[in-house]
Amino acid sequence: MTTTRHPVHLVGAGPGDPELLTLKALRVIRAATVLLVDDLVGDAVLELALAEAARPPRVIHVGKRGGCPSTSQEFIEKLMVREALAGERVVRLKGGDPLVFGRAGEEIAALQDAGVEVEIVNGITAGASAAAALGVGWTDRRVGAQGVLLVTGHAGRDCDEPDWDAIARVAASGVTLVVYMGVARVETLVARLRRVLPAELPVAVVQRASAVDERVVRSTLDELADTIRSQRIASPAILVIGRVADPALAAASCKHETAPARYPSNVGRAQAVLTL
Ligand code: SAH
Repeated sequence: MTTTRHPVHLVGAGPGDPELLTLKALRVIRAATVLLVDDLVGDAVLELALAEAARPPRVIHVGKRGGCPSTSQEFIEKLMVREALAGERVVRLKGGDPLVFGRAGEEIAALQDAGVEVEIVNGITAGASAAAALGVGWTDRRVGAQGVLLVTGHAGRDCDEPDWDAIARVAASGVTLVVYMGVARVETLVARLRRVLPAELPVAVVQRASAVDERVVRSTLDELADTIRSQRIASPAILVIGRVADPALAAASCKHETAPARYPSNVGRAQAVLTL
């Protein structure tokens, strides 16, 4: 008897608001038999995604939830391969977009080495949601922002420290910096950027973008570390560095609607409409 192999889906769960899940993500999650979930994926997202699942999948949390140490990357890859080869419909659910600082590359390589197909389902990356929280785009022409650079503030094991001088020079040319994982090492980041960028450059910190408890805190580059400490900003948070973070721009912007604390209980009806 041969086992049917299904492709493993790497799915973006978006930044937190369940309404920002894509229809494709919902469909794929609901068909899963094994769901490997990152710790950045909120309960509200899981609740919605699984509300209409034909039969509930085996859900495996592979993040740091409950204070447990994070599951090793190698273990996750082995688990995905094993379950896929056993004929399971495996979905790897990641916060935001799976291809943005999501270690998707290693996972795709491991799956392909094992002869397992991979499909990617994009999600809305946290940096995009941070822009929505500010009501100002990464590339707002009013301040001449001609581009955006998504950077990590945390090099990670086995990786070189980002080249902050080069990054700062790009930012000095008017490109917006959107920094992921920047809170923990903010002092270093500011010290390096300040070699090139002005003290007064606006920065916005968006904590838990799109979630019901989303917070936006304003600062200048010089005061960023103090602000993060005094305002007790914790991960997950995005730093938006550049003139688009000027509060004067946001004052003229529109508010974006935040998700209800719990997704309404007519989820089932909404799903019926979607599948017509
Ligand atoms: N793949 C994810 C990023 C993973 S890296 C994405 O596309 O969004 C993890 C970092 O993402 C966190 O340290 C934080 O900087 C950022 N992040 C994730 N979700 C966030 C959220 N809801 N609000 C603010 N930052 C978030």
